[in-house]
Amino acid sequence: MQAGPDPKRKRKATPRPDLYEVSHLSDPGKAMTAELKSPISHQDAFLEAYRCLLCGGPLTPAPCMLACPAKVDVPSFIGAISVGEPIEAAEIILDDNPLGGTCARVCPTEELCEGSCVLNSTQQRPVDIARLQRYAIDQAFKEGDLLVPQRPQPNKMRVAVIGAGPAGITGAFELAKLGYKVTLYDSRPATGGLVRCAIAPYRQLVDPLEQETARLWELGVEFRLTTMVDARLKEELESSCAAILLAIGMGEDASAGCEGDKFKGVFPSLRFIERIKATNYPKVGKVAVIGGGNTAIDVAREAVRLGASEVTVLYPRHAEETTLFSVDYEEAVEEGVQFAWLTSPVKYEGNGSVTAVRCMRMMLGDPGSSGRHRFSPVDGSEFLIEVDTVVEAIGQLPRAEFLSQIPGIELTAGLVKVNPETGETGNGMYFAAGDALNGGATVVEAVRLGKVAAAGIHQKLMGQAIDN
Ligand SMILES: Cc1cc2nc3c(=O)[nH]c(=O)nc-3n(C[C@H](O)[C@H](O)[C@H](O)COP(=O)(O)OP(=O)(O)OC[C@H]3O[C@@H](n4cnc5c(N)ncnc54)[C@H](O)[C@@H]3O)c2cc1C
Repeated sequence: MQAGPDPKRKRKATPRPDLYEVSHLSDPGKAMTAELKSPISHQDAFLEAYRCLLCGGPLTPAPCMLACPAKVDVPSFIGAISVGEPIEAAEIILDDNPLGGTCARVCPTEELCEGSCVLNSTQQRPVDIARLQRYAIDQAFKEGDLLVPQRPQPNKMRVAVIGAGPAGITGAFELAKLGYKVTLYDSRPATGGLVRCAIAPYRQLVDPLEQETARLWELGVEFRLTTMVDARLKEELESSCAAILLAIGMGEDASAGCEGDKFKGVFPSLRFIERIKATNYPKVGKVAVIGGGNTAIDVAREAVRLGASEVTVLYPRHAEETTLFSVDYEEAVEEGVQFAWLTSPVKYEGNGSVTAVRCMRMMLGDPGSSGRHRFSPVDGSEFLIEVDTVVEAIGQLPRAEFLSQIPGIELTAGLVKVNPETGETGNGMYFAAGDALNGGATVVEAVRLGKVAAAGIHQKLMGQAIDN
């Protein structure tokens, strides 16, 4: 069954044959490195920038700007490109979003800025904001210009940021801009969090994370990488810092709980993608992907690029109840990914290695408190799908153990509860941002939350409000 997400709920994807080619999928060598939002030439950037109506103004911001969680001033940066000033454009972008280059590659722009472009209402293709944003930042970084703001007068207050993913990078950057002495901790050896290790390589491999990180360094942020903040270090930070920003994201993949999940060929989604990112490509033939979110789609599309002969996504409800972005769904279908709706795995069959997924058809019951329908198995509906690879992509678990060691922090289903205006937790020393609050959303949402928390810390420590 191939019913897609409800078109009434989500904007239909605008076909972009000039920007998106399926043909490269037949060449596995090319397929693994081909980017979805590839760079454009100077000339194409000019031409595309001229399509922008530069709508909005100080009193009525443009719809694209309103749709951007980081509040990037889109008309101003596109205006700068149209007069041949890409570096100025990059400065405008980075002023609002220290991960502007990353977001140009990974943001669901079709749902955000480009989805709100006024050209959509005139039946025209929206301005390709993502690729213009990428163009501007690439130009600046290529010229070695990191566009680092001037170092402010230090205010001598120390803030620790735990987690160097998008929320932590943004929080650290904003706090350093305000004069705080910021130390950024991460258990991993490099910055970027999920961007470096989980976001599908056809969106972003690594660049421009290095330059985005270097900007923090230039601004005076201290890095403590390969450093897990445990109970002991946490206590040390509590006594030496004026505030602590928790930007710890989510933990390991949740398990579907099927018997046989230790068989060779069964992967949690993060491990599967991490291997692809490290060019240690798993060998795949027939692949089942368990889950119906954007990670499941990325895994399925990466499996196609790895040369899988068949890729089937299993989801227990109808298509309309997924969190999929419709453009990704449509492109996945175009690439040959199949969807088995109302289907759940009950067991992985095999003998050391997985050979099949035993599935059951599901029927839907009442909507639960979230509005999504409960589902239950249809008696006697068992069937087998032959596979050699299963990837479970049903979300990540919260870092509840670490969080429960911090007194006063309130958790809802393992997620940190904060004042949404300030990012302050129930423990006045701790602020929080990113996936740890929402269970996993987007990079640009983590950027927004990082900005909110940095402003919240500044307001608390200095009594000064910042308009984000
Ligand atoms: C497979 C996958 C694909 C995705 N694709 C996209 C996409 O295409 N576009 C998009 O916009 N978003 C995507 N996302 C979502 C996006 O990656 C996240 O929303 C974003 O990275 C969240 O940022 P964060 O800073 O909150 O957390 P993270 O990126 O998870 O960073 C948290 C960091 O904290 C560190 N940490 C945790 N605990 C400690 C500790 N105690 N001590 C020290 N360090 C610690 C971790 O090592 C990690 O580096 C995807 C997510 C996944 C899982």
